Amino acid sequence: MGVGVGVVGRVRVAAATVGWLTVAACGGNGPEAGDRAAPARAPGPARTAPAATPTSAPLPAPPPAAAPSVVTAPPTAPSAAPPAARAGAPAAAPEVIEIAYRVERRVDDEATAGFEAFVEQTLSDARGWVRAGFSLVRSEAGPYLIVLAEGPEVDRLCLPHDTYGTYSCQRRETVALNADRWRTGTPQWTGDLATYRRMLVNHEVGHLLGQPHPRPQCPRPGRPAPLMAQQSTELDGCLPNPWPLDHEVAAAARHDRPLAPL
Ligand SMILES: [Zn+2]
Repeated sequence: MGVGVGVVGRVRVAAATVGWLTVAACGGNGPEAGDRAAPARAPGPARTAPAATPTSAPLPAPPPAAAPSVVTAPPTAPSAAPPAARAGAPAAAPEVIEIAYRVERRVDDEATAGFEAFVEQTLSDARGWVRAGFSLVRSEAGPYLIVLAEGPEVDRLCLPHDTYGTYSCQRRETVALNADRWRTGTPQWTGDLATYRRMLVNHEVGHLLGQPHPRPQCPRPGRPAPLMAQQSTELDGCLPNPWPLDHEVAAAARHDRPLAPL
């Protein structure tokens, strides 16, 4: 089935993901859609956000391998599963869900060199979503896509959400990152550029894993911002933070939010 690695236990078809169109454009002041969903085909029980009104948008054809990308395996199976996924997370999350993704850099300037390796390193880092029982595996056959592109292409990939040639987004199986943001960060960001890039990757992939923007954006000024806060434009007194906080890990480890649909 292509993307399953080390699957020993049952295969869970991600029923909760079927039929959802998710859009999350980040960094803007417009209608936020971090948890937006529209019942493109069938509603699911976990969504309560107002329905968006997306139009059909051209996207690259999904990879032919539409095999289940979400699997569960016994906690002892994947070596990539961090101990925290079992020891630090709630006991209700014994499973590890594998997310296989492709990485594409659709720009070629020096400032964006190393994008692919940076993404892979970030998503496999023990401080990241692996803590919540997600095994993010780079694979050329992966059904999810993380792409770095110039603003106009990101805008196209992110439709129907408007990213204004500036913002990044997650739409369905695609995370589209704006190359200018990658090159320079934002004026509001108070950390260094590498940390910004790590935040950007982890934040948008967080949406891919079903995680919404928090409210308020900065619940504890002076402390690290929630990863899922819109840190690109709204640190709001929080410190820049590229990794999911403990409570974000705990929430994601419940595995009860629909993953982005394929
Ligand atoms: Zn966001």
